[in-house]
Amino acid sequence: MQPRQIELMPPQIDGQRVTFRWRVDPESALYRRTEFTLGFPGDIDLSRVPKRLWWDLAFICLHPQWLLLRPCRIRIPLRLSAGERQFWLQLLRNGWDTLAAMGPAEHRGEPLGIRIISGDQDLPRTPVSGSRFGSSFSGGKDSLLQAGLLCELTQRPLLVATTSPLPPLEDHDTARRRHVFESIQQRRDIQFVEVASDFRGLWDNGFAASRGHPIGVNELTDTFLYTASLLAVGAAVGASRLFVASEAEVQDNRVVENRIVQHNHFMYSAATHRALDRLLTPYGIRLSSTTWPLYSMQVQQLLWTRYPDLCDLQYSCWRVPKGQETCSQCEQCLRIAMTALSDGENPERMGIDLPRLLAFAPTFEPLADPPAPSPGVTGAGARAASTSRRLSHMMDSVRRVSLPHLARCLARRSIRRLISRETINLLQDFRRIRKRASRFQRPAALGAREAFFAWLDPDLRERLIAIYTKRFPTEPHEFHVGILERSQALTRRATSMLGA
Ligand SMILES: [Zn+2]
Repeated sequence: MQPRQIELMPPQIDGQRVTFRWRVDPESALYRRTEFTLGFPGDIDLSRVPKRLWWDLAFICLHPQWLLLRPCRIRIPLRLSAGERQFWLQLLRNGWDTLAAMGPAEHRGEPLGIRIISGDQDLPRTPVSGSRFGSSFSGGKDSLLQAGLLCELTQRPLLVATTSPLPPLEDHDTARRRHVFESIQQRRDIQFVEVASDFRGLWDNGFAASRGHPIGVNELTDTFLYTASLLAVGAAVGASRLFVASEAEVQDNRVVENRIVQHNHFMYSAATHRALDRLLTPYGIRLSSTTWPLYSMQVQQLLWTRYPDLCDLQYSCWRVPKGQETCSQCEQCLRIAMTALSDGENPERMGIDLPRLLAFAPTFEPLADPPAPSPGVTGAGARAASTSRRLSHMMDSVRRVSLPHLARCLARRSIRRLISRETINLLQDFRRIRKRASRFQRPAALGAREAFFAWLDPDLRERLIAIYTKRFPTEPHEFHVGILERSQALTRRATSMLGA
């Protein structure tokens, strides 16, 4: 097969809008158009962003899509060192090993089939000024906890939200999302910046699946966009210590046929972020995550106990239709609601509609009656292990929900509602669901992953460890040191020649 030619044009800055363009020959059904923009608020001084950083952002946003366009040649007018070409090709290789593992068998072991041909224009990376802290922000439990932590531990952190609708989803367009963005600014001393982009609308989101990789294109690219927005705004406002939340599950990896296969969402694994961190060193930028040691469920538990004045802003459901706060009819809604209920909290605080959720619960396969066969976990990615762990913890949460507590939540402070036929029926149904959840084996208690503490930002590390170990036991080093070492091997492979 003739390799596809992909030519990157110089990023164009026009007022507060930056446009990234490229040409693809022959064209691919992946793209509806081959350009996207990042739009910044008027008070963000883009002249403070190093010119070279815009090129890095183009690579960060676009490179995962090249995995879907192989074999291909990437041409850019800029001069890249051999170490840098090696960096991108190895990061792509790391991604391809995971993508190939979840696709048709014939892809495994194929050469990468991507070349980067650089030009002769020199554009050095220059340091950004300032050392403030900043985080990418969506309102999801991970970024909300990270925002809470940075507000507690640092001075007036920067929070950067990226609004980029992915049709037909409406989660970037809801009134609830506006409410979350406004409220966080009222409740904390932060600098909040919202970046607008048409990036997520430019591809056919089913393209990867049509090629046999059961994953949405957005699952390969979304967080790269959010990271890019954060880097640009951080450089403009003097925030160089930047964080993108990434929980313990995303770090899961294993060896399959001599290759390290990561979680399907390797776009924000520590292996990926810690590699990018090294690439960004010449700018004086540090990229990391506060949440690497915590499991997804612990993120919510810590958010609700440590920051009860923020937890109602949790915005986790991406299936939410425009007029609602959450869909209350998806696995994600069920999981976060059961976590809250089992800890004696009321999930309606974060916009869950409990009656609707309880009507949905028995349609969720593992809770169905008659029992569905042992819930299957598909995909060869390292997500399989974390999916089954997640499920057993969700079932444990269901089992631990107290009926009197659920009744109080359903009553919404009305005696009349409490004794209504509807409430009584819902409680009876839930009692049956709870029984079904007991079919699952009880999981061991979750601990914060001790070995991952070493990855935490050195200025925050001790204080974060104190917060995490006060709330949770630790999962001893030897339980996950293999994951740590494989993750570090991936980072090392990508970065070993940088600066050479
Ligand atoms: Zn939902």
